[in-house]
Amino acid sequence: MATTETWHVANWGLDVESSDSGSIYKHQCMTCGQKSSPAVTADGPDAWCLRHAEQTGHTDFRCAVTTFFRASLVGGARR
Ligand SMILES: [Zn+2]
Repeated sequence: MATTETWHVANWGLDVESSDSGSIYKHQCMTCGQKSSPAVTADGPDAWCLRHAEQTGHTDFRCAVTTFFRASLVGGARR
């Protein structure tokens, strides 16, 4: 008796998830490691960098942006 196997492979897509929150911005001083508060735009963290530079003389920063994605089936299963 022969065995037959059928494989169904789905097409998946990846989309930016925007129903809960947009991207989260957070900046960090590269000299001392202090971090800004997280924010949904870069404006607050940018202002934090300028205040931090004025107060400490530290001038190098990095920005971390967290963006959420959701995978979902696209066009159903294919054979
Ligand atoms: Zn600093």
